[in-house]
Amino acid sequence: MTTRKEITETGWNFDNSYARLPKSFFSSVNPTPVRSPKLIILNEPLAASLGLSVQALQSEEGVEVLAGNRIPEGASPLAQAYAGHQFGHFTMLGDGRALLLGEQITPQGQRVDIQLKGSGKTPYSRGGDGRAALGPMLREYIISEAMHALGIATTRSLAVVATGEAVIRETDLPGAVLTRVAASHLRVGTFQYVANWGTSSDLQILADYALQRHFPDVGADENRYLSLLQEVIKRQAALIAKWQLVGFIHGVMNTDNMAISGETIDYGPCAFMDVYDPATVFSSIDIQGRYAYGNQPYIAGWNLARFAEALLPLLHADQDQAVKLAQDAISEFAGLYHRNWLSGMRTKLGICNEEVQDESLVKDLLDMMQKYRADYTNTFLALTFDTPEDTVLFGTPEFAEWHERWQARLGRQQESKAASHQLMRTSNPAVIPRNHRVEEALESAVTHGDYSVMERLLDVLSRPYAHSPEQAEYSTPPAPSNRPYRTFCGT
Ligand code: AMP
Ligand code: MG
Repeated sequence: MTTRKEITETGWNFDNSYARLPKSFFSSVNPTPVRSPKLIILNEPLAASLGLSVQALQSEEGVEVLAGNRIPEGASPLAQAYAGHQFGHFTMLGDGRALLLGEQITPQGQRVDIQLKGSGKTPYSRGGDGRAALGPMLREYIISEAMHALGIATTRSLAVVATGEAVIRETDLPGAVLTRVAASHLRVGTFQYVANWGTSSDLQILADYALQRHFPDVGADENRYLSLLQEVIKRQAALIAKWQLVGFIHGVMNTDNMAISGETIDYGPCAFMDVYDPATVFSSIDIQGRYAYGNQPYIAGWNLARFAEALLPLLHADQDQAVKLAQDAISEFAGLYHRNWLSGMRTKLGICNEEVQDESLVKDLLDMMQKYRADYTNTFLALTFDTPEDTVLFGTPEFAEWHERWQARLGRQQESKAASHQLMRTSNPAVIPRNHRVEEALESAVTHGDYSVMERLLDVLSRPYAHSPEQAEYSTPPAPSNRPYRTFCGT
């Protein structure tokens, strides 16, 4: 039983269950204060849904909390220990520049992690400075909030505070702290850490904790740890399908960046695809294309296999049987993912029922998009509004033939044209955070201290399915360039 402290004036209502787990799971450490905190952006609707007073957060004291200069009542800051496979190589990691302040219990009774990112060194910092730069933190804010608006499970961004200190990267950059909100920060890598360096009782404690926190409906009569594996597989299958459907490329799907909750986490080198090409990679360090767009479902399966390995001792007392249970569960992933993806693709094409040939209809469209270098988002938009633009793809006889097949397919369902159109409107976003738009907003904010470009972009991205006239300019793809867009990790 926990005795809950009184809710503070700001609305902080912490109950820190993670801090009650075995001591080897984390290190208690306070944020390192920063010189002169300045609130750059506060997510007011999110603050309200967490039960936090916007006014109090904007006050000097509130900003000090968001900067890590003041510990709010009831918080117990800690850095979480975890391991992970980074580009296939297993290593010890942990929160090197982030701290869990505590778990906020929202007015709806939900428990969410409040984490400061860029809050200073921890025992897991290795050679790093524990800090973050303003540009990348605003980038996380923009893209995570865009993902949320697109209907994709994700960590959220509550605020970004500039620190008034420089962080040293290739050049000196303005520093910042991001406040991240997550269902939890349990990762596949958390399980790998405990499976490798903890006791068997530690592993069971962690698994029970994850079940209680994310899958409270799993019954006591089942093989609970197998259920945990199966539920995580289900959530990831649904999540990755959603990524693929909007053209999101995570960029660094290491096992430490895969959340047990099924939320998208870690917005380092991620970016959205413009031209449809499964080989698309933006991350500057992903030389081999391990985390290319088309590889994401495969990598998710690989990561889940690492999760299953970590859980083996809990699945069955007999090792062979445990392995068999794990393999059977993992073998479900590809099919589950594919069903999620195909049903999402059907909605993108306005198809309400199922026919066997639907998959080839989708595949033929994607193949043409790749061949004629069509913009992924805008192709679906043009189909939705029946406005085939003057692009190479739409001018081909192949497309005309495909369009006829698609129309015939729509004719074979009971739903009206209007219903089909409505389904497409709500399945095909008008706007995604296009790389050149995000860069433009960051450039304005970081170099010129002008946040209006970012604010406008955030506003447009908050209603991706509105299809309103003022959004039109945001759907323009970037001008062709010889220099490919590049993103960076650990910035
Ligand atoms: P990421 O690429 O964000 O998943 O980070 C991988 C690991 O590096 C995590 O353990 C981070 O906490 C750590 N890390 C990244 N940047 C820094 C930094 N500036 N200082 C300390 N640790 C860092
Ligand atoms: Mg990470």
